[in-house]
Amino acid sequence: MIRTIVMKFGGTSVSTAESWATIDSVVRARQAEGLRPVLVCSAMAGISNRLETLVDSARDGSHEPFLASILEEHRRLGQALGVDADAILAGEFETLERIALGIHLIGDASPRVRAQVMALGELMSTRLGAAWLASRGLDVHWVDARTLLRSDGRHLGNEARHFLLSSCRYDPDPELARKLEPYPVVLTQGFVASDDRGRTVLLGRGGSDTSAAYLAAKLQAKRLEIWTDVPGMFTADPRVVPEARLILRLGYGEAQELASAGAGVLHPRCIEPVRAYGIPLLVKDTRRPSLEGTVISDEGEGQAEEAVKAVTLRKRLALVSLESMGMWRQVGFLAEAAALFRSHGISIEHVATSESNITLSFDPAQNGVGDEKLDSLVSALSEICEVRVLRDCTAISVVGNRVRRALPRLAPALGAFEHEALFLVSHAASDVNLTFVVEENQAPHILRQFHGLLFEELDESETFGPSWAELTGTEPPAYDEAAWWCRRAEELLVLAREHGTPLYVYDEDSIEEAAARLRELPVDRLFFAMKANANADVLRVVERAGLGFECVSPEEILHLERIFPGLDPDRILFTPNFAPADEYRFALERGVHVTLDNSYPLRRWPELFAGRSIWLRLDPGQGAGHHAHVRTAGAHSKFGIPREELLEVAELCRRHGIRVIGLHAHTGSGIFDAENWARNARFLAEQAALFPEVEALDLGGGLGVAEHPGQPPLDLDEVARHLRAFREERPGLALWMEPGRFLVASAGVLLTRVTQLKEKGGHRYVGIDTGMNSLLRPALYGSFHPIANLTRLGQPLE
Ligand code: ADP
Ligand code: ASP
Ligand code: MG
Repeated sequence: MIRTIVMKFGGTSVSTAESWATIDSVVRARQAEGLRPVLVCSAMAGISNRLETLVDSARDGSHEPFLASILEEHRRLGQALGVDADAILAGEFETLERIALGIHLIGDASPRVRAQVMALGELMSTRLGAAWLASRGLDVHWVDARTLLRSDGRHLGNEARHFLLSSCRYDPDPELARKLEPYPVVLTQGFVASDDRGRTVLLGRGGSDTSAAYLAAKLQAKRLEIWTDVPGMFTADPRVVPEARLILRLGYGEAQELASAGAGVLHPRCIEPVRAYGIPLLVKDTRRPSLEGTVISDEGEGQAEEAVKAVTLRKRLALVSLESMGMWRQVGFLAEAAALFRSHGISIEHVATSESNITLSFDPAQNGVGDEKLDSLVSALSEICEVRVLRDCTAISVVGNRVRRALPRLAPALGAFEHEALFLVSHAASDVNLTFVVEENQAPHILRQFHGLLFEELDESETFGPSWAELTGTEPPAYDEAAWWCRRAEELLVLAREHGTPLYVYDEDSIEEAAARLRELPVDRLFFAMKANANADVLRVVERAGLGFECVSPEEILHLERIFPGLDPDRILFTPNFAPADEYRFALERGVHVTLDNSYPLRRWPELFAGRSIWLRLDPGQGAGHHAHVRTAGAHSKFGIPREELLEVAELCRRHGIRVIGLHAHTGSGIFDAENWARNARFLAEQAALFPEVEALDLGGGLGVAEHPGQPPLDLDEVARHLRAFREERPGLALWMEPGRFLVASAGVLLTRVTQLKEKGGHRYVGIDTGMNSLLRPALYGSFHPIANLTRLGQPLE
């Protein structure tokens, strides 16, 4: 008997004429190897989502546009393939319209009806593909998957699970093999099966992989190939981390862990059927069919030295926190809570426990849990304890054998959790999975950090291949080609020749543009935090742009006086930290705005400030920013007067006739959270109740500047929107800000010359005539500064 090979093609692999041409050629190549291809196909990319929307929108009759776009998409593919979609899919189009109308009339859709609609996606794509392959002379036999896969009926008691998240038996099925034997090529649908009453059921979103694995097991295939839009399983989702490395081989167990933890390229349920019969599983890229991809087999099982294989993300998890005093003394509490999850058909993923709290996570989508079911679970749990639910959390998992060993390498990234919310940590007892459940918006950033620490330095090996960026040539640009220094590269080279290197060069227009953007913010006054750059010419541009200056030392004030004789002291802020009495005296005599960030000077040298107007820098209690070293608020920061001391400070000021005319808060550097400054404003405005003479609030600086090419910039319009909302709440208070790097970060370059080349330990080193003496930020803050070869801009690196 000819051995079968099962080949599954995912959504993007069946959406274009080019992909179908690849399918045609790989099918012929497998036939040439003496195998019988059984093709399992998904719906076209995006169609399953649109079918879901169609069902939801049909309830109130607003489904027309979705219906039209679904039909349109199939007509477009038909046209590209040169086959008549309207004729081939007449039956499916008609069914779709009829069911949508039915849902509208009834005003609801049962899981059973939803399954019927969703199955049409796969039915349509395979009908079109089969027609085209036949037109190419391939002897292909289209089979309805509902005649091949039968649901095991495990979830009959739960309608949603039964129809939408079914599973099937996959014992070897010689009868089925015999039935398919006459056909050289079989083409069927993924995702779709039938129950014992012949009704359509689905295997869960992304379930086509599982259909293919079931068929591979039933037909005892020689291997299973999963064709998709990435050339294998990677050390992280390559669309989030382009540096992710191809995993060349994996054991079934590890592949299972990776898929369950969110490596979305494989459906978690597709491993077990092939593992049970030792059928090798290959992951291949339809757009790059010649690439090797990942091989999953028992040969890969546990043999690799490198223990950790990947970092993965799982989004949209729900977190349920159960709070009850002394719950451990209550025999059976955990069993009672678990029984409620069970009776709601929910399987739990992670658990963390303490004396009075149990926190559990689960995936609502994989459990068929909608709002209603969640509400019912919460009200049942509320009978036994206090319940809190957090939705849309993300789990980041580090996956691989002996994962504990990776902990020391992760240490630098764990610092982030000092400030970011960390809802749950779970270490699998089998030591193959370490999971951190965090807020969704923090996840990609943490994932990239983890990945960098674990994988980016690894040499190629039997396990780890090239990166996604290398494989696909989609290396992100090394720098932003629209940057001023790219346009003016020739001038920069002349400057390097004239002045020698290393040389700092600043672009006036960039500073002016940044200042113009800042002037659009709804704030009354802007001060340049001159520690960001005290170059005299830079300061002149800033001064011309109408900004004042924020200084932290008398020397900075003197520097300003030398450059701008007669500069109005009203344009200078003095915001020092732990300054001696002399420095305050100096600043007060100059008549600049003086800010105190500690109560000590008020207690020790009240006479210095008596009768004067001053500002106070407060600690809002929570820092922000791109690196722990630049977070300038919170319990672990030396800056600002803590809230607890404000009563005492107010009393000291009253006693010595000191007028507090402004309050200040600066939370950190490199902040991309657009609400940060409005939050500072609200905090300061609240504290102003203690200081009736406050006229203005200084919201600090720290406006983030994108480092990496392609990184989204801080949304200044959004910053402005939040500030406007605050101004409406508190119209009486003037707002000041003191940006530093925002004005100059993109305006400067450091020109340097290559001095020597060296090769050592397989690495190439390029020596230059500067170092951390002139650019400290990468070493100090781990910050990124792109490097470009100005003499060969735009040319590929050798
Ligand atoms: P298909 O429609 O072919 O089934 P999927 O979208 O289900 O494709 O799976 C492929 C996607 O899986 C990739 O485009 C990639 O973004 C995502 N993915 C997530 N994690 C990984 C990983 N570790 N390795 C490779 N791909 C991953
Ligand atoms: N088309 C289905 C989905 O998008 C199944 C699959 O593609 O695997 O979920
Ligand atoms: Mg998939």
